Amino acid sequence: MAEQKNNNLIPRPPVVVVMGHVDHGKTKLLDYIRKTSVAEGEAGGITQHIGAYEIIHKNKKITFLDTPGHEAFSKLRARGAKAADIAVLVVAADDGVKPQTLEALEHIKSAELPFIVAINKIDKPESSPERVKKELAEHDVLVESWGGKIPSVEIAAKPGTNVGELLDLIELLADLGELKGNPDKSAEGVVIETNLDSRRGFVASLLILDGTMETGDYILSGTATGKIKILENFLGNPIKKAAFSSPVLVVGFNELPLIGDKFITEKIPFTVTLKVAKKIGELIEKSVESTEEKSNYVHLIIKGDVQSSVEALKESFEKMQFSPFGGSPEGGENAAIKVLKAEVGNVIESDFKTAIIGDALIIAFNVKIETAIFGTEKEKIPVISGNIIYDVLDKAEAIIKEKLKPKTTREETGRLQVLAIFRQEKNRQVVGGKVISGEIVKGSRFEIIRNDIIMGQGRIAGLQSEKKEVGKIEAGKEAGLEIDFGDPKIAIGDILMLFRKLP
Ligand code: GDP
Repeated sequence: MAEQKNNNLIPRPPVVVVMGHVDHGKTKLLDYIRKTSVAEGEAGGITQHIGAYEIIHKNKKITFLDTPGHEAFSKLRARGAKAADIAVLVVAADDGVKPQTLEALEHIKSAELPFIVAINKIDKPESSPERVKKELAEHDVLVESWGGKIPSVEIAAKPGTNVGELLDLIELLADLGELKGNPDKSAEGVVIETNLDSRRGFVASLLILDGTMETGDYILSGTATGKIKILENFLGNPIKKAAFSSPVLVVGFNELPLIGDKFITEKIPFTVTLKVAKKIGELIEKSVESTEEKSNYVHLIIKGDVQSSVEALKESFEKMQFSPFGGSPEGGENAAIKVLKAEVGNVIESDFKTAIIGDALIIAFNVKIETAIFGTEKEKIPVISGNIIYDVLDKAEAIIKEKLKPKTTREETGRLQVLAIFRQEKNRQVVGGKVISGEIVKGSRFEIIRNDIIMGQGRIAGLQSEKKEVGKIEAGKEAGLEIDFGDPKIAIGDILMLFRKLP
């Protein structure tokens, strides 16, 4: 570390994060504040979303993180960075406390952030701020007007009612917090957004938490290093220097740093031994080595234009639920997605190589597919491209389902028509019916057929004939079935088609 000058601590502006349930008005509030409080003539100059902006309120600066909601915030937190000083918890007065309100509260509590409750949409006739306060009290959040310590303000973000009061409260909390920074030391902070710019290369939005950075400084974040070639403020204007609480855009990294990672700057180059060798190829070979797993998994390579989209896609894929019947011949209970690679950048030759080795699908979100690779081999690799997350997810889901379908051949062994439904729970259904062909055997799998369409699958966990447990029942007889998969729900009139797998 370079010599740091003294302990010149001076007050620094607060960094504010806005959290709350979806549709409660976080974006509207951030938009309103940006439009009205970014210095005159400059707001229109914001051409690029860099994840944060600065305002001046009554001659004092406030920085707002405008990363979408608390997902981004929790990512920042997960990586050990406490990026914000103050939280604003937005609760819509016409909707009240909702699951994501509580989730946001948990984040706020575990980060020990001072916070303000902004009860929003009070312009709506059906709004009830008192109800919100009551519901908050039920979750141990007592606002001042209810005798507690949490400041609250009733606002309407759309017309801007009382937003000024909210900003006053933020200033007040910031003053109470005695936030301090040292402008004389090298900068440190967190990465809030990253982007691969076709012209400028790796571009990172950073939030400076302490110190000062200048063009020409050396920078380090995770395995990414570099020298700051271009420094811009949140409006996209070139600057030479920036200090704590400011969001900035930096060009000069040798690779994209990760959102939420810390960064530090120095006047002298960092020793590059810190750089970790990233041998993606090796990793991939390892993860596909165990071939017996292979048919249970669908491998993915995700490429996108910005880190936040890549991460959003990765998370969505990892959360996707697939029917437990697809996948392996045994039924594929482990059917799942494995992301081999999730990176910012165009789809390039090495991605295709990886896809061929790993039998993977390539997801190309808002990026180009660089052609002239591998001729016919390439044709075999499905590439799903698009620029709307949900479209891409939908398209991919269809292909993944296809890939997970059982590949073994099978033989129909019997059919039963459902005549009665006795019980339907999440993972258990009890139905009765008549065996109309072949025989039905305990433990068998079946398809649920309704109007000649296969609705889903199931398995017979228990079988009863005339109230006695039996192993099988022949055609012509009535049967009671206990089924241990509950989705979709079986209906009267459905045909259950049983099958046996061939070796
Ligand atoms: P977010 O999901 O929390 O970011 O919510 P948005 O800011 O996107 O707002 C959700 C919806 O509520 C939008 O249709 C907004 O126009 C509306 N909305 C937000 N604030 C207000 C408000 O103060 N009054 C009214 N009437 N509508 C609002």
